[in-house]
Amino acid sequence: MKWMEFPREVLIGKNVLNKVPDVLNKLKIGKKVFLVTGKNTVDVAGRQIQEMIEENGGVCEICVSEKASPEEVQKITEAGAALEADSFLGIGSGRSIDLAKLSSKNCDVPFISIPTAASHDGIVSSRASIHSDGKSESFEAQAPIAVIADTEMISRAPFRLLAAGCGDVISNYTSVLDWELASRHQNEPFSRSSAMMAYMSADMITNSADLIRPGLESSARIAVKSLVLSGTAMSVAGSSRPASGAEHMFSHALDRIAKKPALHGEQCAVGSIMMMYLHGGDWEKIRNALLQIGAPTTAKEMGIDDEEIIEALLRAHTIRPERYTILGSGLTPSAAEKIAAVTKVITE
Ligand SMILES: [Zn+2]
Repeated sequence: MKWMEFPREVLIGKNVLNKVPDVLNKLKIGKKVFLVTGKNTVDVAGRQIQEMIEENGGVCEICVSEKASPEEVQKITEAGAALEADSFLGIGSGRSIDLAKLSSKNCDVPFISIPTAASHDGIVSSRASIHSDGKSESFEAQAPIAVIADTEMISRAPFRLLAAGCGDVISNYTSVLDWELASRHQNEPFSRSSAMMAYMSADMITNSADLIRPGLESSARIAVKSLVLSGTAMSVAGSSRPASGAEHMFSHALDRIAKKPALHGEQCAVGSIMMMYLHGGDWEKIRNALLQIGAPTTAKEMGIDDEEIIEALLRAHTIRPERYTILGSGLTPSAAEKIAAVTKVITE
């Protein structure tokens, strides 16, 4: 049996924030809404949405969250249960969405994802990242029942976030190659349609890399559409496989090693340049697209030491050992150095 979970309503465009009450009505998921947001976003969008819901006869309670920790998930779950919330809204760039995703699952009610930035594909996926003891862990939660992506608002978020989101999608090129490899070497189940969607979402970014510029609503639209397609690829696969391979393991390793990690999408994209070199593919195509967008392509641009890059390359295969990738049983230090130097990630 194959069980696929998709969002039912996906709204992408200018001022779609105003459509929140319409979406709630259309989904017929009740009038009590628990809104999870951050301290900046509450003024940018949170209160406005609360007012709209209340004007339409609904009940909306706001929770301003600080960090995505297990304690915070527990607190929000309990508050949502006390309200007897019919649904959760997660409004923010990632943390609030992850918190709403997990807490709504605990309460067994649906959640709606309202991204204020397009920095990674968590805005559409069923997985949530939670931090504890300085480590980030990924949990299976639930896919959003609706995604409301206001491209006007997203284009006003810092451009670095949008560029990172594009990097997260571009890294699908190597995730898909790793998946194909695993299907050949280990007979892992493989979905051609899911892989094609993941590949296509990466193509959407590279083909329009020269159009992705700060402050443009059209750029936000390209990024969001590709993130939604990437999320759909994961829904079809029933796992993150089409959008998470060795380059993601490299990024997770960096999160643990680096004194000051860069953004998830930035690290995955730089990882993808190096993993594409390992696959013998066109790593320069990935690098050029990132250069065009203005996303980092080197350790220095990410604010990470060369030694930390090498250490992360050496440790990456241990992060998720059950996920077979081009890293196999690991690299030797000299191989890791060569890969990073040839692809210009570190200086020779
Ligand atoms: Zn990612």
